[in-house]
Amino acid sequence: MAAIEIEGLRKEFGADTVAVDDVDLTVEEGEVFGFLGPNGAGKSTTINLLLDFIRPTDGRIEVFGTDVQEDPLAVRERVGVLPEGYGFDPLLGREYLEWAIETKDADDDPDELLDLVGLADDADRYATEYSKGMQQRLAFAMALVDDPDLLVLDEPSTGLDPNGMTTMREVVRERAANGTTVFFSSHILSEVQSVCDRVGVMNDGRLVAVDTIEGLQANL
Ligand code: ADP
Ligand code: ADP
Repeated sequence: MAAIEIEGLRKEFGADTVAVDDVDLTVEEGEVFGFLGPNGAGKSTTINLLLDFIRPTDGRIEVFGTDVQEDPLAVRERVGVLPEGYGFDPLLGREYLEWAIETKDADDDPDELLDLVGLADDADRYATEYSKGMQQRLAFAMALVDDPDLLVLDEPSTGLDPNGMTTMREVVRERAANGTTVFFSSHILSEVQSVCDRVGVMNDGRLVAVDTIEGLQANL
C-alpha cells in the first residue's frame, strides 16, 4: 500500500487561480520524497489538501489507504506536520510539546523531543521569545510527536541556521531508517537533494517531473 496516493487533484481559488492543476502522485511507504518548486507553485496547497485542511475542487487523496475526505481524523492521527509559518502564542516551549503530546494522546517525553532538536536549555522560555530558527525547531519537535508514520515538512529550513538544518537532516534520516515516510517540501534544490530518494517538481500548479535526483540531473 502506498503512503500517499493522489489522483486528479485540482484546487482552484476563485475564478483565476489554479493552485493545483490535475496532479497525480504516488509516494511509497518508507520513501523520503522531495516536493520541489518555486514559491507559488502549489506545494502548501497540496499539503493543506493532504490533511483535509481545505477541500479539493476535484480529485482525491488517500493516505495509507484512507481517503482523507472520508476520514480526516484517521489520517491526521498517523501524520506529523511541520506547517509553513506556524503562529506561536505566549506558551513555554515545553508547554507546546505537552499540548502536542496530549492532542495526539501520545506518551512521548517532552524534554526528550526538545533535546533532540537542540532546545533543552530553552524549554522554560516563551516560544514567542524564540528566534525564527528556534521556533522552527519547536514546530519540528511537535511534528515528531507520537512517531508519525508520515512526516510532512513544509519549507522546514525557514529561519534555520546551518546547525539547525543539519539536525533536521539527521533526524529525518534517522526516522526514515526506522520506516517513517517523509514528504519534504522546499523551494531549494540542494535541501531536497541531500535527504530525498525521489523528487516531484511542481511548477504553476502542475507536477512537471517525478524522478530520482540522478534522473532529474540527467535531464537538466
Ligand atoms: P507554494 O506553497 O508552492 O509556495 P501555494 O500552494 O501556497 O504555493 O500557492 C499556490 C498558488 O495558490 C499561489 O498563486 C497562491 O497565491 C494561491 N493561493 C494559495 N492559497 C490561497 C488562498 N487561500 N486563497 C487564494 N489563493 C491562494
Ligand atoms: P507559501 O510559500 O506556502 O505559498 P504563502 O505565504 O504564500 O506561503 O501562504 C501562506 C498561507 O496563506 C497559506 O496557508 C496559503 O494557503 C495562504 N495564501 C497564499 N496565497 C494566498 C492568497 N492569494 N490569498 C489568500 N491566502 C493565501
